[in-house]
Amino acid sequence: ETVVNRIAAGEVVQRPANGLKEMIENCLDAKATQIQVTVKQGGMKLLQIQDNGTGILKEDLGLVCERFATSKLREFEDLASVATYGFRGEALASISHVAHLTLTTRTKDDKCAWKVSYCDGKMTGPPKPSAGNQGTQIAVEDLFYNVATRRRALKSPGEEHAKIAEVVGRYAVHNAQVGFTLKKQGDTSINIRTPPASTTLDNIRTIYGPSVAKELMEFACEDTKLRFKAEGYISNVNYSVKKCTFLLFINHRLVDCTALRKAIETIYASYLPKSCHPFLYLSLEMAPEQLDVNVHPTKHEVHFLHQDAVVEKIQQAVEAKLMGSNV
Ligand code: ADP
Ligand code: MG
Repeated sequence: ETVVNRIAAGEVVQRPANGLKEMIENCLDAKATQIQVTVKQGGMKLLQIQDNGTGILKEDLGLVCERFATSKLREFEDLASVATYGFRGEALASISHVAHLTLTTRTKDDKCAWKVSYCDGKMTGPPKPSAGNQGTQIAVEDLFYNVATRRRALKSPGEEHAKIAEVVGRYAVHNAQVGFTLKKQGDTSINIRTPPASTTLDNIRTIYGPSVAKELMEFACEDTKLRFKAEGYISNVNYSVKKCTFLLFINHRLVDCTALRKAIETIYASYLPKSCHPFLYLSLEMAPEQLDVNVHPTKHEVHFLHQDAVVEKIQQAVEAKLMGSNV
């Protein structure tokens, strides 16, 4: 039973950066304006995330790591959007099967914070009163301590840290209203820091550097018949970085869409010399029922309705923008 749970959990989480992505989304769902990430050994020893969001009611703490228990059904009554947004209550449950999970939380009406640990989906004891401000802190320690195959599949701490930084950076660009920090535990220097109430472009500048930000053009494209809207920033054709950097959010979730990526790379290939690669940040919004509900929400690759038509439309808009930029 537990072994099966562990294997399933390992498929949901896979590596520290995946777990962190889920936890960042939880902070955003809880309306945090400040999210602080602290890691040790690329998140393998410690992956800690602190937010100043709503916190969790003490009486709900027993359910937090229960599989398929989500508090978000109350807010998202439409079942299709629950499935597609990834609100299925699997993330923390999975993590609790493959790591030591400790949670400290305080709502605005609590007189103190409450601290509780979880193992295999259950609280290991009753919540204990604790110090802490409003919001939630989750500490994940010794990820995959009980799944040797997963542990062996991890890269070096440096590489895992880089994947974590990539996730934090991308969410910071997409959520400029929220302040993000990333640091290594015990280090005085901060890896990433974006202020709350920032702008997308300022955060791109902070995270990817001024030379990237300088070359960007605003991008927008919309089709009422296909029922989607896309906006963001794209490189103009003078641009060059070491590899293509493509930040894609669909309905505010960080995803991959190979078809769209390839379509965009094709366009740039005809404008850029081989050694030049573009930077793009796109935020797509579409009706939740248009997203494929059969793809597991924690998997990054997405599919959606009228995908070919939507991809073509965006491809044309990118090309039009590049032609308009007149090089
Ligand atoms: P889901 O996000 O799909 O509901 P998760 O496993 O990611 O499932 O989280 C389980 C539940 O724990 C959430 O529904 C929410 O009630 C609570 N929760 C998790 N993280 C936070 C947080 N940072 N702030 C407030 N509540 C949280
Ligand atoms: Mg979640």
